[in-house]
Amino acid sequence: MRGPSPLEQEVINLLADPQFEGHPLKEALSQLWGAHHDLLGRIERIARVSDGYQSIARERELSLAARFDKQLRQLEKVARISDRYQMMMQDLNASLREASTLDTLTGIANRRLLTERLREESERAKRYGRPLAVVMLDIDRFKVINDEYGHEVGDRVLIEVVRAMESEIREHDLCGRWGGEEFLILMPESSAEMACTVIRRLGDSIAALGVRVNDDLLGVTASMGIAELRADETYSSTINRADIALLRAKRSGRNRCELAD
Ligand code: GH3
Ligand code: MG
Ligand code: MG
Repeated sequence: MRGPSPLEQEVINLLADPQFEGHPLKEALSQLWGAHHDLLGRIERIARVSDGYQSIARERELSLAARFDKQLRQLEKVARISDRYQMMMQDLNASLREASTLDTLTGIANRRLLTERLREESERAKRYGRPLAVVMLDIDRFKVINDEYGHEVGDRVLIEVVRAMESEIREHDLCGRWGGEEFLILMPESSAEMACTVIRRLGDSIAALGVRVNDDLLGVTASMGIAELRADETYSSTINRADIALLRAKRSGRNRCELAD
């Protein structure tokens, strides 16, 4: 509360002065003083109400902002969860694609991916008049390896043969597991003769492999049939011709490669 102003103090003094007792102006001044106080009181009440109103409004504003912040935090949380979910879906998709296109034992392309690439590469080769060689490779007497040393050793032989294949083929060639102990090598931009050079070297490097079984080194060989895509045939016909060439390689003693007619 503020102290009295000089005028107010003067009025207070006059009203307290016994000298003016009974003076008609003192009665009027006293009434005016009372009215003045009433008015002050009212003004103060109005100020208090308005202050209160302002603080209520401020509080409401504050709680609105707080509510907004809370909603924002919830939205951020939802966005983070959705980001994580999306990343999980991407990972899942990648591993699904991997599982559906790669061979689980050796990690190279499976038959599905090979077929997909065969279709693409044969279309490309025909459209641009480029050569495309297809090689069918089959491990020799693999059943005997399984029978004598067990399936697990057989699996290791498959893995070693794949490793040799991967290190011998060129960067834009694709090798994959066609099934069992049979592999297909796709060689874009290669004629059958060019493929033959690479495949002979691969045959040598497979024959040089020694797969360790206890204290022994187990030798392994493979036979190959090579065919070049013809402009007037489907890739299935090319594979058939590579298969027939492979059969000829088997019949003529194995551990060799034959060119299709
Ligand atoms: P050939 O020289 O005429 O090709 O004789 P082969 O014994 O290699 O051919 P055959 O078709 O008689 O036998 C293939 C064997 O390959 C039979 C099958 O049990 C084995 N095999 C197929 N897939 C796998 C595999 O994933 N792991 C193992 N360990 N063996 C397999
Ligand atoms: Mg075989
Ligand atoms: Mg076979």
